[in-house]
Order: sequence, then C-alpha cells, then structure tokens
Amino acid sequence: KKIVIAIDGYSACGKSTTAKLVAGILGYRYIDTGAMYRAVTLFFLDHHVSLTNPKEIARALAQINISFKVNSKNVTETYLNGLNVEGEIRKMRISEHVSNVSTIKEVRAAMVEQQRRLGKEKAVVMDGRDIGTVVFPHAELKMFMTADVLVRAIRRQRELMERKQLVDLDEVIDNILQRDKIDTTRAESPLQQADDALVMDTTHITIDEQVDEVIRLALA
Ligand code: C5P
Repeated sequence: KKIVIAIDGYSACGKSTTAKLVAGILGYRYIDTGAMYRAVTLFFLDHHVSLTNPKEIARALAQINISFKVNSKNVTETYLNGLNVEGEIRKMRISEHVSNVSTIKEVRAAMVEQQRRLGKEKAVVMDGRDIGTVVFPHAELKMFMTADVLVRAIRRQRELMERKQLVDLDEVIDNILQRDKIDTTRAESPLQQADDALVMDTTHITIDEQVDEVIRLALA
C-alpha cells in the first residue's frame, strides 16, 4: 500500500531515529526533511547567501539539488549537488543557522514541492515539522512527538559524541530551545500539532517502544 506516515514534533525528540527504523521494517522509503533544510543551510553558508535578499535566495535555490542514497550499511545519507554531506549537515554550525534559514518562504516552497514529489513515488515515512499540517495534510498516519528537554539534549549529545563532536550539554540545550522557539513562532508553516495527529511523549519510552507503537498504528 502506498501510504504516508508523517512524524512531526520538536527538535531531538527521536523523530528521525523512529522514522528510519519504521521505514526499514515496513519497507517504506525514509525521508528526513530536516536534512533537506540542513543541506540548504550548508549551501547558503558556504556561498554567503544573504537571508534577506530574495534574488540571491532564488538564485541559490535554483542551484541546489538534494538527494538521498542508501549506503552499504543500509543507512540513508544526504547528498547536496552530488556530494555526500551527511556528516557536515549534522554539525553545530548548521544546527545554529538552520531554523533561521527554514523561516524563509521561498526555501520552504522549494522543499515542500520536492517532499510532495518524493511522497508520491512510493510509501514513505517522512519526519519534520510541517509534514502532517502542510506537506501531506491527508497522511494516513500522523504522529506528533514531544519529550522533556533534558532527555532530548542528552540523546542529542550522545549522537554528537558518536560523530566525535564534543559540545557542552548546555550548548545543546540552548540550541534545542532556540530552534523550538523559532520553529513554533515563525510566520510560514509554524510547527504545530495537526488536529488528527497522535501525540507521543518519548521522555520515558525506549526507541523500540516508539517504533513498535508507530508500526502497530500504521498497520491497524
Ligand atoms: O529535523 P532536524 O532537527 O534535523 O531539522 C533541522 C531544522 O530544520 C529544524 O530545527 C527546523 O527549523 C527545520 N525544519 C523545518 N521543517 C521541516 C523539517 C525541519 O522547518 N519539515
């Protein structure tokens, strides 16, 4: 069946970890929309694109091609104009700017168009902030993930450590809160729970439990 599972929520609640595993088990395609905004941010930073100049933004967007490839370990990686940027886009430098870049109307329009195209090709699990509200308002299953901020920061810190990036826990907490604030208050498609989304608080549950629950709901 060609269905869309939308997983939205705050930063670092376990959306992508859950989405990835659910997609793997169900044989669906996994689309990390945050990675797309991160890749745009990387391009904008590297090319010194002014975030307030619509012409520069449009010109930059026309030069950006984002794709996903599954590597030999079966992990989906993000490519920007043919280059593997999976490591680069997870760095704090990107996390610090991505939410600002994501407020830009033209950026969102370009990403949403591409996301809809990807979702039409085959069954997908898509995670982000506006999937159940804007990208696929008719998604068959919508999850909205939340968790205690300290738990989120600890999990994110562990991921950064696995990538050999040493960052203060305080800095991680600040970044998460800052992104939540920008994401929920921006004018364009702010992060909000869809009326028909199911809330999942992941503070006290394990990844396995999150995955089992989403799959149970998807197949129900
Ligand atoms: O999911 P991740 O935390 O990697 O996303 C990075 C940032 O991209 C978010 O903090 C948010 O500002 C932005 N984003 C968005 N809409 C999406 C996915 C991500 O605005 N659908």
